[in-house]
Amino acid sequence: MKVNIAGFNIDKELIDKLNSPLATPELISASYARISRSNKSIEELRKEAMKELEKARKTNTNIIFAMGHSSVAEHSVFNIDLIGVSRALTELIQRSRIASFTEKSQRYVTFSKDYVVPAEFANRPKLKQPYKKLMDELFAEYELSFNALNELYKKQKPELKTRERECLAKEDARYILPLSTKTQMGMTINARSLENLLRRLSKSPLKEAAELKELLYTKVSAIAPSLIRYIDNDDYTGKVDLEKVGFTGFLQQELPWVKELDLENKVRVINLPANADDTILASIIYQQGELNWNETKETVAHLPRIIKQQLWNQVFKDLKPWHKVPRAFETVDFSFELTMSESCWAQFKRHRYCTVLRKAGSSLAAKIPPAIKAINRENIWTKLNNKIIRMGSALPPKLAYLNPYFRTNASIVTVFVKMNLREIYHFVRLRSDENAQWEIRELSQLMAAQVKKNAPQAASFLCGKSEMNR
Ligand SMILES: Cc1cc2nc3c(=O)[nH]c(=O)nc-3n(C[C@H](O)[C@H](O)[C@H](O)COP(=O)(O)OP(=O)(O)OC[C@H]3O[C@@H](n4cnc5c(N)ncnc54)[C@H](O)[C@@H]3O)c2cc1C
Repeated sequence: MKVNIAGFNIDKELIDKLNSPLATPELISASYARISRSNKSIEELRKEAMKELEKARKTNTNIIFAMGHSSVAEHSVFNIDLIGVSRALTELIQRSRIASFTEKSQRYVTFSKDYVVPAEFANRPKLKQPYKKLMDELFAEYELSFNALNELYKKQKPELKTRERECLAKEDARYILPLSTKTQMGMTINARSLENLLRRLSKSPLKEAAELKELLYTKVSAIAPSLIRYIDNDDYTGKVDLEKVGFTGFLQQELPWVKELDLENKVRVINLPANADDTILASIIYQQGELNWNETKETVAHLPRIIKQQLWNQVFKDLKPWHKVPRAFETVDFSFELTMSESCWAQFKRHRYCTVLRKAGSSLAAKIPPAIKAINRENIWTKLNNKIIRMGSALPPKLAYLNPYFRTNASIVTVFVKMNLREIYHFVRLRSDENAQWEIRELSQLMAAQVKKNAPQAASFLCGKSEMNR
């Protein structure tokens, strides 16, 4: 056996010192692409690629684009700083499943007044002025609420260190920040995922998305021109136009329905698996036994309860908070409809292995943290939240797509989510943990309670990391 480190990501400043056109990840992609049809060793293939950059690029183009083996582009990975993008745009960026993100946290960092003014407002002072005025008001309220919360906690929680107290104050004050707030994030993404992201950005009508697409493509294609091609809006959306078919029933019902949902239920169960415990147990046994799938399930269904209990004890034996439960837990899916604030959604959407469908809509409902009521700023917050939502709804129809900037972290989001039990385990470990933010912890605990009712055995260790440690 032999292991070579063929490459790894290092800072661009060091790469620039090489001052070589060969400093491109395309060579790794090309040499790996050639593995499947060559008798040569990988070392030789890599040497060959180094000798003939243009030929290597041609290999990539042929294999990725002509033959459609896009997985070859996955061997080229980029680390990209994204600075000054709006929180609204992160919605599009972080939809990439096969990519890694670390974003500046509004829980731990104080945000100074820095927000995106949509380029669409450049020659529209009548829209731009009130927008800027309102954004300034929101940032001013953020600062006032932060100071008031900080003072409140000085009295209520004198045991906290300054930094802990300030973080607690930030955690809730940030709910009034608008989604136009600028943020920064580190993104690690392979060329294949990046191509998907570029295409997604090109389908967005936002000028901010177009600017990001242009910057990303220009910078990446200068280093690696052979990996990314289909980046333009090809007009495929997969959406439906209800008005075109003369049926707008869904649209008319939306507003009152969303309002009712916002106030009543945070977690609505949509779909639960039948016999989840038996399905998972059968899935584990299936891998070890001689019987086929149906026979295994049938046999498990008829096992005495005491035997099943013993088997479950074995499944969870020695399970630690950092362990994953077996893949067999992926055989059962749970679906929920969830209502949460934009702030909570910003955390929820970071979980990549689930299906999430976000509803459009501009409900006036807002999630105002209880602490804001304690500092008597609830009415001011409600007014500001209503003002921003109404301003967004009053945009001229051709600019209605700017709506994502006209929301605060307190604005309400409704999503449909489907997760398998393995991902639910992971989600609940992180989000029911004592260090998790309070709103997502609440949501996680409600979801976990529903799952436990449905799958008492399989979900018997479903809890936050901190609880498991205890
Ligand atoms: C208390 C707390 C504080 C946080 N603070 C911040 C913060 O300040 N800034 C910030 O940006 N984020 C923060 N996060 C979010 C966090 O970094 C994760 O993005 C988020 O919790 C999603 O979880 P995940 O990445 O483990 O897994 P998911 O996306 O849910 O994926 C599930 C599992 O799949 C595997 N997986 C998925 N993708 C990959 C991959 N590319 N490579 C290898 N394995 C993969 C992993 O095993 C992972 O556990 C915080 C989270 C918590 C709980």
